[in-house]
Amino acid sequence: MEISQMVLPGEHKLKPLPYGYNALEPIISAESLRMHHDILQQKYVDGLNKAELKLVDARKDNDFDLIKYWENELAFNGSGNILHSIYWTVMAPVGTGGQPGNVTTSQIINYFGNFQAFREQFSSAASKIEGSSWAILTWQPTWHRLEILQAEKHQNQTQWSGIPVLVLDVWEHAYYLDYQTKRDEYIEKWWQLVNWDEVEKRIKLAMNGEVPLTL
Ligand code: MN
Repeated sequence: MEISQMVLPGEHKLKPLPYGYNALEPIISAESLRMHHDILQQKYVDGLNKAELKLVDARKDNDFDLIKYWENELAFNGSGNILHSIYWTVMAPVGTGGQPGNVTTSQIINYFGNFQAFREQFSSAASKIEGSSWAILTWQPTWHRLEILQAEKHQNQTQWSGIPVLVLDVWEHAYYLDYQTKRDEYIEKWWQLVNWDEVEKRIKLAMNGEVPLTL
C-alpha cells in the first residue's frame, strides 16, 4: 500500500452503504438498517478515531497510565468498524447475490465436506453464541483453507491472520427490531441476502495473498 493511502490516526470515516436503506427488505427493514449503519457503525468509527488520537497524545506525553483502556477501545471499535463494512458488502437485495461460485463451492467442499454441512455449522455458530457476537467464515492463509469462527464482541475468539470472507452480525441490535427474540428466524432468512458473487471475489483475493479492501 502506498504511504498516501495510509489512514492517519483519527481519520476514519463512515462509508455509505452500497445500496439504499430499503434494499434488504423484507429480511432487514429500512428502519433497522438505518439505525445499524448511521448510528451504531458511526459509534465504532468515532470510538476508533478517539482511541487512536488518545494514543497519539499518550506517546507525545510518554504517559501510558490508560494504555489498557485505549488498547481495548482500539481493538473493539476497529474490529467493529471493519466487520460492519464487510457485513454490508456481503449482503445484497434478495435474488441479486447469485449462487455460490466455483472457488467458493470447491473450497467449502474441500474443508467442510459438503455445502449443507458448512451452512449448518455456520448457522449453528451464529445461533449458539454467548453474548454479542458474529459468525465469521475466514480464509486462513497460514493453512490455505477456510474456517468458521465465532467472534465475541467484535474482536475476541479470532485466529490471527484470518481474512473474513462472509460475516453475520448476531448482536441483538442487528435483528431485534425485525425479529425480537427470534434470532434463528433472522439467521435462516439472512441466507437469502448473501452476496455470493462478492464472497467469491473475496475468497479469490484472499487465496491470492491480497486482503479484500472494504473500507
Ligand atoms: Mn452490528
